[in-house]
Amino acid sequence: MTEDSVATQPAARPAVFSVPPYVGGESKLTGVNRVIKLSSNEGAFGVPPGAVDAIRGAAESGHRYPDGGATALRQAIGRCFDLDPERIVCGNGSDDLINLLIQSYGGPGTDLVMSAHGFLIYEIAAKLAGMEVRKAAERHDLTADVDAILALVGPATRLVFLANPNNPTGTLVPAAEMTRLRTSLPPEVLLVLDAAYAEYVDRPDYDPGIGLVDAGEGTVMVRTFSKIFGLGGLRLGWAYGPLSVIDVLNRVRMPFNVSGPAAAAGIAALAEPDWIERSREHNRQARAQMTNRLSAGGLTVYPSEANFVLVDLSTPERAGAADRYLRSRGIIVRNVAAYGLAQCLRVTIGTDQECAAVTDALTEFAAQNG
Ligand SMILES: *Cc1c(COP(=O)(O)O)cnc(C)c1O
Repeated sequence: MTEDSVATQPAARPAVFSVPPYVGGESKLTGVNRVIKLSSNEGAFGVPPGAVDAIRGAAESGHRYPDGGATALRQAIGRCFDLDPERIVCGNGSDDLINLLIQSYGGPGTDLVMSAHGFLIYEIAAKLAGMEVRKAAERHDLTADVDAILALVGPATRLVFLANPNNPTGTLVPAAEMTRLRTSLPPEVLLVLDAAYAEYVDRPDYDPGIGLVDAGEGTVMVRTFSKIFGLGGLRLGWAYGPLSVIDVLNRVRMPFNVSGPAAAAGIAALAEPDWIERSREHNRQARAQMTNRLSAGGLTVYPSEANFVLVDLSTPERAGAADRYLRSRGIIVRNVAAYGLAQCLRVTIGTDQECAAVTDALTEFAAQNG
């Protein structure tokens, strides 16, 4: 706008328009009644039964404001994961906490470093905060490259974000490499470890970030109830960090950022007998079977540590054709072009029946489309 032009309507800050809006996994197909939705990495077993009861119970006190400190929920998380509740903050999904960390530690004139195919919310939130986003090339197997990340860190870098395992690649950086990343970063750079899929990992060389949080002042871990705990619709996440970071989050978060039903559901989900174990075991078996069958069908599947697999269809055109083929059979998976992976589709591990349906359809597609 020139100096003497007159605004005719309210205008938002230019940074607001610097990012395309986040597009979530779709859930509907026109003309199809029963859709198989494998596009958002939602837990295969749905909502834990105890959480359904807890949400119903919480309905009775829906007129009351929730406990702004989410005390009972933080205590339950602390018990479940053996952590100090004073060093936990809960949020309206982990997206809420990710955004608050970026708003608090970033800002105009600073930059955020992430890996090339990292989770898009980091980029969206950083650009809204007026930051420059630097993306580090990944290794050939689509694993984050610690040296490439370190090479992008400069004097203006305030935050490094890493999802481990990463979405949408499913790949994991082992604990020793994470330690090397932290110890090589300047102490004033906040390292945010997003362990949204931690409960699915069974590799012994994995640490979701608790060890690094405890080792210093510069690392925070964010977690979610949206994946293995089946509560994506309730919006519930949490962060574990040094007291200095927890203090910042408690200052900037909205006072009632966790609703009563969400807190009640979270407490009940944590108490559901064997929920994590059963979900992880199902996921391990179904993921291996899907990977093996798709590979046998001639498709390239990246090894995944999470509740989804990334299928490489060689070209964006072939990925688009496969996507349409699946949709014509009522199956929705995730197009990951926005992540720079237009040749791939991301497929969530659902129930055995859902996995069989998507695997059958993709192998049929591969058989027909060379
Ligand atoms: C799904 C996901 C989240 C969770 O977001 P919520 O806001 O808690 O639903 C966070 N990070 C990654 C990498 C994810 O895939």
